[in-house]
Amino acid sequence: MSENKSALIIGGGVAGIQASLDLAEQDFKVYLVEKNSSIGGRMAQLDKTFPTNDCSICILAPKMLECFGHENITVLSYSEVSEVSGEKGDFTVKVRKKPRYVDEEKCTGCSACEDVCLLKDRFPDEFDMGLGKRGAAYLPFAQAVPRVAVIDEERCIFITKGKCGEAPACKEACERNAIDFEQKEEEVELHVGAIIVATGLDAYEPYEMEEYGYGRIENVITGLQYERMINAGGPTGGHLIRLSDEKQAKKLAFILCVGSRDLKRYPYCSSVCCMYSTKSGMLAREHEEDMESFVFYTDLRAFGRGFQEYIERGMEEYGINYIRARPGKITENGDKSPVIWYEDTLIGELKRMEVDLVILATALVPSKGVEELAKALGVELDEYGFFKVKDPLYAPVDTTREGVFVCGFAQSPKDITDSVAEASGAAGRAGEVISFVS
Ligand SMILES: Cc1cc2nc3c(=O)[nH]c(=O)nc-3n(C[C@H](O)[C@H](O)[C@H](O)COP(=O)(O)OP(=O)(O)OC[C@H]3O[C@@H](n4cnc5c(N)ncnc54)[C@H](O)[C@@H]3O)c2cc1C
Ligand code: SF4
Ligand code: SF4
Repeated sequence: MSENKSALIIGGGVAGIQASLDLAEQDFKVYLVEKNSSIGGRMAQLDKTFPTNDCSICILAPKMLECFGHENITVLSYSEVSEVSGEKGDFTVKVRKKPRYVDEEKCTGCSACEDVCLLKDRFPDEFDMGLGKRGAAYLPFAQAVPRVAVIDEERCIFITKGKCGEAPACKEACERNAIDFEQKEEEVELHVGAIIVATGLDAYEPYEMEEYGYGRIENVITGLQYERMINAGGPTGGHLIRLSDEKQAKKLAFILCVGSRDLKRYPYCSSVCCMYSTKSGMLAREHEEDMESFVFYTDLRAFGRGFQEYIERGMEEYGINYIRARPGKITENGDKSPVIWYEDTLIGELKRMEVDLVILATALVPSKGVEELAKALGVELDEYGFFKVKDPLYAPVDTTREGVFVCGFAQSPKDITDSVAEASGAAGRAGEVISFVS
């Protein structure tokens, strides 16, 4: 096979995985570059997914494994693209592979190093959105692919200070002799005919919106933190608790459009918050029969197939209450319960409500680092930092550079169904380009 009959996919979330599998099944060679230590993206962090309320990781994990094990796909995890040259049909790409300090070929993911790390449970776990803890040696999450440990070079004291006890406990515990403190960053050069960007989303952390008390009021969390909290494998074992006293939460408030549709911050709609907050209210009721949920909305954007019916089910079967209001502020009472101050705009009345837990549906934004990536790729971003397309009607997956395509949240806010459909579209367009390479 000509080297240029290959494609590079940047980002191993659900969109990047789908695009990789589609191309690999057509017998093209695929390189999937993922900046994190495991593929999976945001979908791996979700508990259930609207509109079907299926278990998210149960659907995604087989796809992650299929992708990693596919004979036509090479997954380069913990890696980032640094340089791109050439043109459609003949790109040369440089990839920086960061050191994990663990030999991927030898590690079996047994977690012995994690268990004995001198700094076990000392640092916020990124996968659990800071609600759980991890050590300096850790496995990214239970279903990680590849299931290979990582050593955090900024925190491991052997790396930062040159000494960890008499001898590093992680290294002693590893029966496979997989820990390798000599590992260095590597540069890999790839030759590909087409490139697909699938770098997805980050969630805005609203510390600066002091009126909502995020970071100050313990029982105010974000949508992604809620996903981890309600997950049986998550930091609270699936229990919805008040973080202030670990008591069972009974009354939840979901506040939509936090930072989204906000002219001072992110003027666009994040597209999935009305639906995932409804899902969250449903799941809360499935966990606790007497759980009460209140969704504070700007307007309910239930635009997809079956979405309006989903919201009606939320109201009728799960007793979710919808209140049209953008709360003005959240305060905290003596027992640390958040108190929401708002105007119910349907009846024009000022009100207050005390709850156990507030969940902020914060703006969803392009992944950190896309500006540098766009520069390396020689493509344009739109005014919000999403990858600009050539024509939103006729070429919705073509970027501003020939041979470079985009799909999923990197293109604009969208749900999993649309991300997967767009990924297949991008794989189709990339396939057209590389089919004609001799
Ligand atoms: C709280 C919450 C709940 C949600 N619930 C639902 C739901 O129930 N149903 C639903 O349909 N949708 C839901 N969504 C939306 C869903 O998460 C997205 O539609 C989906 O994750 C988009 O997939 P993606 O592959 O485009 O992006 P992502 O899932 O973000 O994956 C992008 C991948 O690219 C990697 N990456 C980023 N930058 C780089 C780089 N420079 N180089 C290499 N790799 C990079 C990332 O590490 C990541 O692995 C929810 C979102 C949130 C925030
Ligand atoms: S060397 Fe020490 S701090 Fe570093 S990962 Fe191993 S046990 Fe943890
Ligand atoms: S590095 Fe060794 S101890 Fe750690 S998970 Fe891998 S095989 Fe197990």
